[in-house]
Amino acid sequence: MNFNQLPHKGLSYTKVLSLMKQYGVNDANWKKGKTFSLVYHRDDTHTKFLQKAFELYFDENGLNPMAFKSLKQFEHEVVKMTAHMLHAGNEACGTMTSGGTESCLLAVKTYRDMARTVRPWIKKPEIVVPESIHVAFEKAAEYFDVKIVHAPLDKDFKVDVKAVEKLINRNTILIVGSAPCYPYGVIDPIDSLSQIAIKKKLPLHVDACLGGFLLPFVEKLGYKLPPFDFRVEGVTSMSADVHKYGFSAKGASVIVYRNINYLRHQFFIHEDWCGGVFASPALLGTRPGGTIAAAWAAMVAQGEEGYMHNANIIMETTQKIQKGISSIKGMEILGTPHMSVFAYRSVDPEVNTFAIGDILEKKGWHVDRLQRPDALHAMITPVHAKVAHQFINDVKNAFEHVKKNPHLAYEGSAAMYGMIAHIPMRKMVRNNILKMMEGMYGPTGQIPDLSMEEDTKEDFAMKAGKWYLKLRDKLIK
Ligand SMILES: *Cc1c(COP(=O)(O)O)cnc(C)c1O
Repeated sequence: MNFNQLPHKGLSYTKVLSLMKQYGVNDANWKKGKTFSLVYHRDDTHTKFLQKAFELYFDENGLNPMAFKSLKQFEHEVVKMTAHMLHAGNEACGTMTSGGTESCLLAVKTYRDMARTVRPWIKKPEIVVPESIHVAFEKAAEYFDVKIVHAPLDKDFKVDVKAVEKLINRNTILIVGSAPCYPYGVIDPIDSLSQIAIKKKLPLHVDACLGGFLLPFVEKLGYKLPPFDFRVEGVTSMSADVHKYGFSAKGASVIVYRNINYLRHQFFIHEDWCGGVFASPALLGTRPGGTIAAAWAAMVAQGEEGYMHNANIIMETTQKIQKGISSIKGMEILGTPHMSVFAYRSVDPEVNTFAIGDILEKKGWHVDRLQRPDALHAMITPVHAKVAHQFINDVKNAFEHVKKNPHLAYEGSAAMYGMIAHIPMRKMVRNNILKMMEGMYGPTGQIPDLSMEEDTKEDFAMKAGKWYLKLRDKLIK
């Protein structure tokens, strides 16, 4: 059954619910630990509890804190607890947001608006970020018309601090670092970035969307970590996602500022609307009460002990998987990741990393692909504890299979990912992806097939010309 218009007569609730289950039959199997991002699952009991917490405030709206004082209190306490976890001090304040992207967008907006007040001569504001920064900052730069300047990484995949300093000019309004970055799971040298920020009188945002709810506990477990939070003097704000390692319901992140002098610039106030005087702390208008309530519930129910317990499982599983992968001759983990997120790849010139990805995919694993360098990505959660062994074996077998069948680099989606990553004509890549998006979100809503059809290959080849041939040789070799 498909719906392109409203059914004339509504279906029964039972029928609707069973249809919904059918829609999901081909979804990624996160319950069995087959996904490495997207879903952060603790255990079924915890999930049921979150659903209940969500349901209690299902209808309420965080848009108006005067009407729903409960939500205001939940939000306030979530921010306070997060600030405390990140050692932000008594002056700290902030807001909840709908997710990491909103937190990052807001950081850029806040500091842009702050610069407009305190350094009004800046006409073209710039932010300096590591190359490994989350793509949400590229989005923010595009949305808010701020120039984003990328500092290269050193050989350990941390931002090159000297490069950051060189890239700062009189238009710079913000420095950003990650704790850790999404691609490699490495924490940037926040301490050194802080020294530069203080010297140049610039704010420093630490994107801890991934690490905010894990690193504090990893540290308490005794793992050695570089300083990454508000204990570093120059850090003026941090983002941390409750819906990632906070194990809350999706739609919950926190942005914390060192004090109100920063947060102030995040607010939106319009006093002349005919709909009434309007004031909003973050991006959204209507804010679902359930996500705010569930975030609070998740934090209070797990407590420090719960988070520590989980962090322990996560770190032990991570180390096991990392050890397993590095023990495969011809494979490596990139850099020295600080927590449970990392990239891995083949270093054997005959074994194409994306082809390994394809085989893992066939075995039901949903793995993300990175580029520059080509790599696969893992984000470990408690559901992986049980499948770690099987995963390592599958990676090992996939590696050996590709070693025997090098042509696999030129088949399936490996060819597509290879092309997308290596064709120097980025405009062409962009146009092809745009076409795909238009197909997906256009009137027919089709999901693209990433394995390369003969004719798409030809099409690509025509356009890419000699680059394509070079690439093909490289892939097959
Ligand atoms: C996930 C993530 C984000 C974006 O968060 P969403 O919740 O996906 O919008 C930003 N920064 C980092 C480091 C992340 O891992």
